[in-house]
This record gives sequence, structure tokens and C-alpha cells, in this order.
Amino acid sequence: EQAMLQARHEPDRMLVCKSRITPAGVDPADLLTAINDGQLSMWLQPILDLRRRKIVGAEALARWRHPQKGDISPGVFIPVAEGSGMISHFTRWSVNACLQLVAEARSRGLDIPIALNLSATAFAERGLVEQLLGGLKLWGVAPRDLVLEVTETAIVADVRRGAQQLQQLNAAGVRVSIDDFGVGNASVSYLKEFPATEMKIDQSFVTGMLGDLRSLQIVKAMIGFAHQMGMRVVAEGVEDKATLEALGDLNCNLAQGWAIGKPKPAAEFMDELAAAPR
Ligand code: C2E
Ligand code: MG
Ligand code: MG
Ligand code: MG
Repeated sequence: EQAMLQARHEPDRMLVCKSRITPAGVDPADLLTAINDGQLSMWLQPILDLRRRKIVGAEALARWRHPQKGDISPGVFIPVAEGSGMISHFTRWSVNACLQLVAEARSRGLDIPIALNLSATAFAERGLVEQLLGGLKLWGVAPRDLVLEVTETAIVADVRRGAQQLQQLNAAGVRVSIDDFGVGNASVSYLKEFPATEMKIDQSFVTGMLGDLRSLQIVKAMIGFAHQMGMRVVAEGVEDKATLEALGDLNCNLAQGWAIGKPKPAAEFMDELAAAPR
């Protein structure tokens, strides 16, 4: 099984040169063009502090506007990038795009950290830590203004190497958030090795939790578990006010979802946040 995981996360260099249409209809070569021609952008979605009732952060979410095919979801093109060896190019673009947004937010007096998603294969790439720390320096961004969202899958792909890299980043002051918690196939024992400060409960537990007792119990248990581990909790996929209120009552720290705000182009997001009373 270890070998299988390894193989799955080792980009196949041969495929980089070949242009082929994947089942999802996305050509990996198109993605390289997209990166170079500015077809990609980072959108931002607000993260709310449930106690202070204040926007205290944002998640950067990649968007691809294809000239012929229209908008392509990251849920579609990221797996393609991972499977074609194109992911290192994408990661480099995403790190730069995110840090640019943090610098921009700062220069506008918006004091919010921005969370960057790291692909499940990012930790297999050479020089990820150097890329991130170098990027912070280049953009003049304080490490505490960057949060890395990492999935369980990314961590278990190579536990030792992943832990090492996250520890280096954490020592430099970059915070780590475990994304989509509970839907990966990892054992919780890896939490012993990882310096995560935050846990994001996957939307599959949150969105319908008021109409499903099992989901509600899972959310409650996860909040308790995270707090026991000294971690803050973010609930993802909060689509209505009733769920938002219930999460506050359950002592969940942070919330993200349509009930608070949908992802928006970064400029629009920042204009609105700058205009909001603080
Ligand atoms: P994720 O990190 O779990 O991001 C949350 C996803 O849930 C986003 O989808 C967001 O638009 C969506 N969402 C937010 N609030 C709600 C809600 O209330 N209800 C529902 N139903 N959905 C909500 P998106 O933007 O399509 O991204 C999908 C996934 O693609 C992300 O999941 C993340 O794993 C990946 N991704 C996105 N941007 C990047 C990136 O820059 N780099 C990498 N490596 N992965 C990315
Ligand atoms: Mg995320
Ligand atoms: Mg998530
Ligand atoms: Mg999710």
C-alpha cells in the first residue's frame, strides 16, 4: 500500500511532454498555457470568527477561465495537474499569486491572513519550503499572514518528509491547517507528528448537520477533539444562518461558507472588506 501511495504521488515525467485529453476533458498542455497566459486567478472567500463576528481571514481559491471551454473548476484541473506532472508549475504560480494578494491586502490596511491550498503532491516536490520562505521574503510578507491548507492525503503520502517540511515552515512562523478533516483515509496518529494549529471540518459533515443527527454528532466530536489537541476549528460549507448559529453554540471558532460569503475575485473581496465597518 505504501508503494502504491508513493507511485500515485510521484509525477510521471514522461507525461509532461505528451499532450493528451484526460477523461475530464482537460488537456494538461492547456494548463501550462493557462499559467503563462494569465488565464488563472485567485479568488478569495471570507472566514468568520464566530465569537467576534468579524472576518478574520480568507481562503485563496484558484479559478481557471479557459478561452474556449469557459470556467474550469479546481476540483477538475488540480487532479489533472497532479496526474500529468504539471502540478509543480501550478504550485509555483499559486504560491506567488497568494503572496501577492497578502502583500496587497497589507498595503490596503487589511489585517487578514490568507490561506493557500497545497496539492496532495506538493510535498513530493523539491524545494517547496525554500519556495515558500523565499516567496515571503520577496513579497515582504510576514509568515504569520500565510496559512497553509494541507489535506490528510498530502500528509500520509510521505509522512516523514511531509512532517519535516511542515515543521520547518512552522518554525519559520507559517501556520498549518488540516483541510477536509475526516474525509481522507489517514489515521489520526499522524497528528502526533504534525504542527497543525487549525482543523477544517469538511463540508460534507457541516452543510446538512441540522437535518442529520449523525453529522451533528460528528461535528461536535471533531470540535472537541480539535480543542483537546490545542487546535482551532473552522467549519466549511456553512450555507445557512441556522447552521452558523448552531456552530457558535458548539464553540466552533471559525466558519466559512455561502452564509458568510461566496468566493469572489480578489479585488472585489478587498474593496468590500475595506468598505466594511471595522
Ligand atoms: P477546499 O480547499 O476544501 O475548498 C472549499 C471548496 O468549497 C471551494 O470549492 C469553495 O468554493 C467551496 N465552498 C465554499 N463554501 C461553500 C458552501 O457553503 N457550500 C458549498 N457547497 N461549497 C462551498 P472550489 O473553489 O471549487 O475548490 C475545490 C477544491 O479545489 C478545494 O477544496 C481545494 O482542495 C482545491 N483547490 C482550490 N484552489 C486551489 C489551489 O490554489 N491550490 C490547490 N492545490 N488546490 C486548490
Ligand atoms: Mg481549502
Ligand atoms: Mg476544505
Ligand atoms: Mg472541502
